[in-house]
Amino acid sequence: MANTIAHFIGGGTYDGGVRRGPLFNPSSGAQTGECLFADRETVSRAVETAAAAGRDWGRAPHAARLQVMFKMRELVMRDLDKLAVGLGREHGKTIADAKGEIVRSLEALEFATNAPHLMKGEYSRNVGGGIDAFSVSEPLGVVACVSPFNFPVMVPLMMGSMAVATGNAVISKPSEKVPASALALAKLWQEAGLPDGVWSVVQGDRETVDVLLEHRGIAAVTFVGSTAVGEYVHRTASVNGKRVACYTGGKNHMVVMPDADLEAAADAFISAGFGSASQRCMAISLLLPVGAETAGRMREMLVPKVRALKVGAYDDPHADFGALVSAESKGAVEDATNACVQSGAEVVVDGRGVRVAQHPEGFYFGATLLDRVTPQMDFYQKEVFGPVRGIVHSASLDEAMAITNSHEYGNGAVIYTSSGHSANRFVSEVEAGAIGVNVAVPVPAGYFNFGGFRRSRFGDAYLFGPDAARFFTKTKTVSQKWPGVDLAVAKTNLAFAPNT
Ligand code: NAD
Repeated sequence: MANTIAHFIGGGTYDGGVRRGPLFNPSSGAQTGECLFADRETVSRAVETAAAAGRDWGRAPHAARLQVMFKMRELVMRDLDKLAVGLGREHGKTIADAKGEIVRSLEALEFATNAPHLMKGEYSRNVGGGIDAFSVSEPLGVVACVSPFNFPVMVPLMMGSMAVATGNAVISKPSEKVPASALALAKLWQEAGLPDGVWSVVQGDRETVDVLLEHRGIAAVTFVGSTAVGEYVHRTASVNGKRVACYTGGKNHMVVMPDADLEAAADAFISAGFGSASQRCMAISLLLPVGAETAGRMREMLVPKVRALKVGAYDDPHADFGALVSAESKGAVEDATNACVQSGAEVVVDGRGVRVAQHPEGFYFGATLLDRVTPQMDFYQKEVFGPVRGIVHSASLDEAMAITNSHEYGNGAVIYTSSGHSANRFVSEVEAGAIGVNVAVPVPAGYFNFGGFRRSRFGDAYLFGPDAARFFTKTKTVSQKWPGVDLAVAKTNLAFAPNT
């Protein structure tokens, strides 16, 4: 097929593996090409190349590595428009949203320039007998970064920037639904001066991931994606002796108190709930108005706003959000909506069956609002990755927080209120990795640790923020003594040495 997306290994594209999968433009529904799926041999080639290149890169001076990070930032900005168009075409999100994603991903590159500071060790002079002790951080070697479809640029950059800045070689395994952006990033890294082999891309599906999880040459695996797969990746990589961190699904609750600025809360719910066709792990999924009056007023305000949302092609400047990523995804969202309605929810705004005249085959689903969703419903319990949002009623802040804490996911949780007391209670009593107080998408700036609770994350390591530098490095502790320093104690002694 004319448009075949290949791997990027050792500084150039590489055609490896016989299996392949179709690629679509979600906005038109048309097949646009194919993506190669890496087999064992291709993965091994990538790992060997990465290991060889990583040895020198890991020993390169911090200053040399920093220059690459600064240059990469410059190049991503230079190519912002081009990257955004490619991203929109393969993912379906609007160009404005794609640009937002790319610009946000710069934070990871910027924060990764702190690697030299974050890798500084400890030093203790004369811990005993003239011995000085110090610790150094060293790169792990080759790390695999497995990413989801919903942020084709941001997630690979967020996972990989600190890995590279701390001296590792990265094998990026993007989603087989959006492989082209990953290839574009690899070429930019090369242009930024990253030595060939330090950033490779292996394309593929679950079978390719399995090879990565087993490969002896890979020291660590990072994963962002759905919960069932993340749990599997965490278990398998751990059994295979790898360091592993997996960030997974979310079902983010937004509690609205009667004293909140309801208009602001409604606008925030629309933006955070429906942006990117709700295909975001930090999207607001559920609205929990406290009290019947708040629920009534919120619903009244939301109905015209949800109805006004326009779905369209990625390059339609008037579209609020685009198509879902695939026909299967659209089918799954439709099934979840129908099941929710059958189990008793009320359809307030119905986006099922929406069509975009110019693109009748596109994977579109219109903005949908369901009322009277309850925690017993499947729709409540599962992550629904499409523009269908639910209202869950609660009588008090206590009840709203209890519902929020009962969910198996703990990625984000948000409260809208004008009461410091309610906000303080929410911050201290709600169990989620990111809390928003009158902030609907509480993804923190890149210099904060960020990651979910409960089944929104597997492994206790952080991939984003300062702790990412710890994840991507190992600590070596050195005890050192030089002749001339307290030689009197240098006698044979087979007992476990005290530090005196
Ligand atoms: P997914 O789990 O289907 O795929 C993620 C990656 O895993 C892809 O590279 C895919 O090829 C691979 N994969 C798929 N099935 C596999 C299997 N059985 N074995 C091994 N590998 C497999 O996820 P997705 O649909 O691409 O992405 C959406 C999900 O990602 C949502 O659940 C979303 O919440 C989550 N996500 C979470 C965060 C976070 O920070 N917590 C951020 C972004 C996305």
